[in-house]
Amino acid sequence: MKTFTRSEVARHSAENDIWIIIDASVYDMSRFIDMHPGGAFPILEFAGKDATDAFYGLHKQDVLLKYNRYKIGTIENEQPQINFYQAGDISKVPYAESSFWMGYKSPYFTENHARFRVAVRKILDGLKSEAREIEDSGERPSDEFVQKVGAAGLLAANIGPDAVHGIHLPGGIKPEEYDYFYEMIVHEEFARWACPGLGSGLLGGMTISVPTVINFGKPALKAKVLPLVLSGKKRMCLAITEPYTGSDVANIKTTAKLSSDGSHYIVNGVKKWITTGCFADYFSTAVRTEGGISMLLIERTEGVETKLIKTSSGSSAGTAYVTFENVKVPKENLLGVENQGFKVILSNFNHERYIMLCGASMAARLVVEDCFKWANQRKVFGKRLIDQPVIRNKLAGMIAQVESMHNWLENLTFQMNHMNYDEQSIKMAGPLALCKYQMTRMLHHVSDDACQIFGGRAITKGGMGRNIESLQRTYKFSAILGGSEEIMADLGVRQAMKYFPKGARL
Ligand SMILES: Cc1cc2nc3c(=O)[nH]c(=O)nc-3n(C[C@H](O)[C@H](O)[C@H](O)COP(=O)(O)OP(=O)(O)OC[C@H]3O[C@@H](n4cnc5c(N)ncnc54)[C@H](O)[C@@H]3O)c2cc1C
Repeated sequence: MKTFTRSEVARHSAENDIWIIIDASVYDMSRFIDMHPGGAFPILEFAGKDATDAFYGLHKQDVLLKYNRYKIGTIENEQPQINFYQAGDISKVPYAESSFWMGYKSPYFTENHARFRVAVRKILDGLKSEAREIEDSGERPSDEFVQKVGAAGLLAANIGPDAVHGIHLPGGIKPEEYDYFYEMIVHEEFARWACPGLGSGLLGGMTISVPTVINFGKPALKAKVLPLVLSGKKRMCLAITEPYTGSDVANIKTTAKLSSDGSHYIVNGVKKWITTGCFADYFSTAVRTEGGISMLLIERTEGVETKLIKTSSGSSAGTAYVTFENVKVPKENLLGVENQGFKVILSNFNHERYIMLCGASMAARLVVEDCFKWANQRKVFGKRLIDQPVIRNKLAGMIAQVESMHNWLENLTFQMNHMNYDEQSIKMAGPLALCKYQMTRMLHHVSDDACQIFGGRAITKGGMGRNIESLQRTYKFSAILGGSEEIMADLGVRQAMKYFPKGARL
């Protein structure tokens, strides 16, 4: 790369010969000017001059990477002043990372967790632009893309400690070392893509359905299905909800009748809003059997149809309306015991909520980081936004809420690490439900304040406000799915009532 003086750059200010400076780098805009999505005017204004402040007032760093081919050199004896994000970097913006990563002490995290986060971040940063292309197109995540995530060990890692046996994990972490804090890191890192549609299509269905096979599948079924799903060669979803019944699972109508020779079930019914359903090869499905509710793993075979339901998170989620018409399902595909499907369904709830909590916490943190940066770079009425007390007040509220929720979540993660499954089932349902209730209330407030700080960009797709727009469009998913806010609040108090001492009086 050549070096130039500022006066040399200044000589290139004619309409067909335009150079500009952005953070000590020189860009030749002569060929680009007609292609500039914002028109020629904003560039002409800075022909031959330093456009750093104006550029960062209107664009994210990604834009410089995208158009790096127009960079022709740097300014002599000058160093860039702006931290340029590199894949895997830990942010230096206050509160952009949780406290351990900001240099504070932690009773929970170790150097191995730190190494793991950087390794996962590098991998997912490397896939981020592809992820965003899929998200924006609303397309099915390609087999190649899903398998790249699988090959990195991250499909299994996303499901949790029970799924990583024999998996090569990022950062050289041994599978036996993989605890819930590692899992937390994985959910957080995926959330940094800010691709809620793709996230659901890639991970949403499988993370809630694969545990039903791991914990309740027969050995032959597990041996067949798990390697395919964890490598990304096949996809799976959880099909419980029906048009008639959402929260009230006991009322499902899909039937499974055992054939006269007892070798298979015949399934008939419909399922609604099934995340990843459009792309799924396997459906872990709640059905009504002779004496109650059972869970069956149904393969996409004759009689299985899926139709896309468009939701606010975008079509890459593959949210499906599923119909089962006389579908033959081998008896071996029964998950758990016949008529005891509720046990299978309930066994998943705590962990599903845990996953949502980790993703939600990071989605809010990402927005706080964007708001902090934006408040520092956006100038209005001659002042930076951060110089306005009202903006600092909003940021303070956002930070305090994110930190409070995250710290509670770390504590719950610690509890999960130190409890076996049975103890978790007894003790964790209430606190996880209340944490989810409060987390989604937090998302509501943080998203609202972030929109006000970002102004028009918060309600514009793509560009600088991308993460803010995405959160305000989709945060309600966490408040409705996996147990709605009302149900979470109620469950939390009802669970607490179980342990309310009989003699307790004021
Ligand atoms: C995008 C999307 C993806 C989904 N993915 C899946 C999936 O992969 N698999 C699957 O099986 N299901 C899935 N669902 C279904 C989801 O779990 C249900 O939407 C959820 O259980 C709520 O059911 P409902 O929408 O029918 O609301 P309803 O049950 O009709 O409830 C409506 C509202 O009433 C309130 N309410 C209900 N009961 C009570 C009560 N007892 N006390 C107080 N308030 C109450 C709730 O807060 C709720 O907001 C998905 C849904 C959506 C929208």
